[in-house]
Amino acid sequence: MNNAILPNIILASGKEQSLRRFHPWVFSGAIKKINGNPKDGDMVEVFSSQSQYLGTGHYQNGSIAVRIVSFTRIEPGRQFWQSKIRDAYNYRAMLGITDNERTNVYRLVYGEGDGLPGLIIDYYNGSAVFQAHSIGMHREREAIAGALKEIYGDKLKSVYDKSHESIAERYAGHISNGYIFGNDAEKQVRENGNLFSIDWEEGQKTGFFIDQRENRKLVGEFAGGKKVLDCFCYAGGFSVYALKGGASEVHSVDSSRTAIELADRNIALNFAGKANQTSRVADAFDYLKESRGEFDIIVTDPPAFAKHRDAKHSAIMGYKRLNALAISAVKPGGLVFTFSCSQVVDRNLFNGAVTAAALEAGRNVRIMHRLSQPPDHPVSIFHPEGEYLKGLMLFVE
Ligand code: SAH
Repeated sequence: MNNAILPNIILASGKEQSLRRFHPWVFSGAIKKINGNPKDGDMVEVFSSQSQYLGTGHYQNGSIAVRIVSFTRIEPGRQFWQSKIRDAYNYRAMLGITDNERTNVYRLVYGEGDGLPGLIIDYYNGSAVFQAHSIGMHREREAIAGALKEIYGDKLKSVYDKSHESIAERYAGHISNGYIFGNDAEKQVRENGNLFSIDWEEGQKTGFFIDQRENRKLVGEFAGGKKVLDCFCYAGGFSVYALKGGASEVHSVDSSRTAIELADRNIALNFAGKANQTSRVADAFDYLKESRGEFDIIVTDPPAFAKHRDAKHSAIMGYKRLNALAISAVKPGGLVFTFSCSQVVDRNLFNGAVTAAALEAGRNVRIMHRLSQPPDHPVSIFHPEGEYLKGLMLFVE
């Protein structure tokens, strides 16, 4: 008998190893017995076959049956969420982004990286966008919004719940996006001194790809006097930084008209019609095929080609094809900034795809920088799956 204070789960013999290494997922195949009839979203305690306590987390029937939020015994409740969110905030304060004249947009909570599997919170200049990936986290939204209010005080104007797209399909029908508190707040943010208009209600993900902040900055640093192509531009992040960095000309390409309208709005916001920039609604593959070596810098930041393990092979082929086009298209002596945000394609696989692309393009390529996600998207050393954004800055002879 264990001394559980919640419904509890007993693992099969030997299945406790990953939890002992602080990996926060319990797979359904590791479970021997479930006591107390937990419902999806309930907190459960997990024990080894020898009745040793291992952790506490949210239960949800599926391949990942428990997402652990604490490896020490806790009483779940407001105080617990308060202290977890406070930890996440203090970590960002240490990074210098919570009170920063030049940057007021950052990721406040990045799931497993913050010991909060299933939860994403992005902060946009006084508004928080809450995104639950498990029904358990979604149920905690009032407590978490309360914790945010307590931490930010009057600075926090709204909390918007955008979980409809991220939650398991069988629950999505009952969950619609909307404000947990406040509404219609300021929707303009500053990132490294650049202005961006954010639409978290209609936009992709939580509204903006915050994870590219440092890579955008790097592009800006190399853009002086250069002709730049920003493929998969979405809100025009790389384009704005390139222009600020003194690019002679920028072309922004995205297949979505809404994205291009957003990019145009952001270019106007920063340069008031004085930028040498053009936008095009087009397929980036086609655009690259037609370009004839006129660009000094090419950025390719596509959406995840593989959202599931089954799509891994075709994703790798996609990265190879895209990078072969970009490496072929760039001017001799030019730069390619290439990215993958597919979690299932790890850094080695991505590098392999780019190597094959360079071979196919028949160009000599040097790796200048290996790029990643910024520290407000931290990776738990015990959960390497949290590293999803990979990039390479290439010099192409
Ligand atoms: N670089 C952006 C984020 C890119 S998100 C930033 O810094 O904010 C990926 C974008 O690729 C989306 O806007 C999507 O509309 C676009 N996209 C998807 N498939 C595409 C294709 N085949 N050609 C061009 N754009 C595409």
